[in-house]
Amino acid sequence: MTAPPGPGWLHTELTAVVPGGLDGVGPDEDLLDLGIDSVRLMLLVERWQSAGFDVDLLGLAERPTLAGWLELLRAGAPAAVPTAAAAPGGPSATTVLRVEQLTPRTVRITLDDRAGRFAGARPGAYLMLRAGPMPAARPVTVHPHAASGEIDVDVVAHDGGPLGRWAAGVRRGAAVVVDGPHDVPDLPAGPVDWTLLVADHPAQPALAARVAALRAGDRAIAVAVVPDAAEEQLMPTAADLGTVFVHAAADPGPVLAAVRAAVPGTGRGRAWLAGERHRMDALGAVLAGLPALAGRCVVERYGGAPV
Ligand SMILES: Cc1cc2nc3c(=O)[nH]c(=O)nc-3n(C[C@H](O)[C@H](O)[C@H](O)COP(=O)(O)OP(=O)(O)OC[C@H]3O[C@@H](n4cnc5c(N)ncnc54)[C@H](O)[C@@H]3O)c2cc1C
Repeated sequence: MTAPPGPGWLHTELTAVVPGGLDGVGPDEDLLDLGIDSVRLMLLVERWQSAGFDVDLLGLAERPTLAGWLELLRAGAPAAVPTAAAAPGGPSATTVLRVEQLTPRTVRITLDDRAGRFAGARPGAYLMLRAGPMPAARPVTVHPHAASGEIDVDVVAHDGGPLGRWAAGVRRGAAVVVDGPHDVPDLPAGPVDWTLLVADHPAQPALAARVAALRAGDRAIAVAVVPDAAEEQLMPTAADLGTVFVHAAADPGPVLAAVRAAVPGTGRGRAWLAGERHRMDALGAVLAGLPALAGRCVVERYGGAPV
C-alpha cells in the first residue's frame, strides 16, 4: 500500500499514545495544549521514525496541529504506509507475530497488519477471528498500531471454548483469518456529568479502549469484573477516572452491588456495559430505573463467558 497516511490513521496513532484520544479536535488546534507534552512528542517521533517516516522533533514541535503533522508525515512517508484505505472487504489471512502473557489468564497476540486493514479502527472496534480448529469466528477487540503495521488482540485463555483453547496454545507464526473492523455502539451522546463503564473479564480490552478514548475533564467510573487480583490491569486515560475492581465468579450479586455503589449520587450520567448476556441484562435492568441515566445506557452482550 503506497497511499499517504490519512486523518483516520493519524487519529488512531495519537489515540494510541495520548490517553483520552483526540475526538472533536479541529485540524488547526494546538496539540501541545491538549496533553501532548515533550515526552509524548518524543515517543511519537521515535515511533514514526522507526516505522520509516522521515520526521523529526523540531519539525513536529514547530507545527503542532493535526493538519501540520499530517502534512509533515505525508511528505516524509516511507514507501509502504499502512492506511485504513487499504482495508479490503471479506475475511483475509494473516500471521501471529508475537505472543505475550499479559496476565496469568490473558494473552496478548500481535498480528501482522501491514496491509493496513485495521489502521483506522475506532476505539473499541472488534474483528472476527478464526484460527486452528475453531468451527466459527469469534469477536475480539482490536488495538491497532498503524505505524508498525501491527494489531494486538488480548484474549482470555481458558478450556471452555474454541477461542479460549486456541489462545492458550497459540505460537508465533500461526495462521489466522480475520474480518473487520466492526464498529461498536457509540457512548450515549452528552452533555453528561459522568460516565459509568462496566465490563466483565473478556470485555476488559474493550473497557480499556473506551477508557483511553475519554477526554481530559471527563469524569468516569469503571467497574472491571475480573476473576482475581492478578487479572487487574491499569487503564491509561486523560479522564478523571475511578476504577473499582470486582472479583466475581458466577454469582451476579457482588457485581450488582458494586455497580449500585459506583453510581454517583448527583448529576446526569450515561452508561456502557459489556459482557456476558445474563449478567448484562441483570445490570441493564438495574440501571434502567435510574433517573440520572434517563435511558442513556448502551449494552454489548455476548454469550458463554462466566466472569
Ligand atoms: C464485541 C466483542 C468483543 C470481544 N472482545 C474480546 C476480547 O478482546 N478478548 C476476549 O478474550 N474476548 C472477547 N470477546 C468475547 C469472546 O468473543 C468470547 O469470550 C468468546 O465467545 C469466547 O469464545 P470461546 O470460543 O472460547 O467460548 P464460547 O464458545 O463462546 O463459549 C463456550 C464455553 O466456554 C466457556 N467460556 C467462554 N468464555 C470464557 C472465559 N472468558 N473464561 C472461562 N470460560 C469461558 C464457557 O463455559 C462457555 O459456555 C468479545 C465479544 C464481543 C461480542
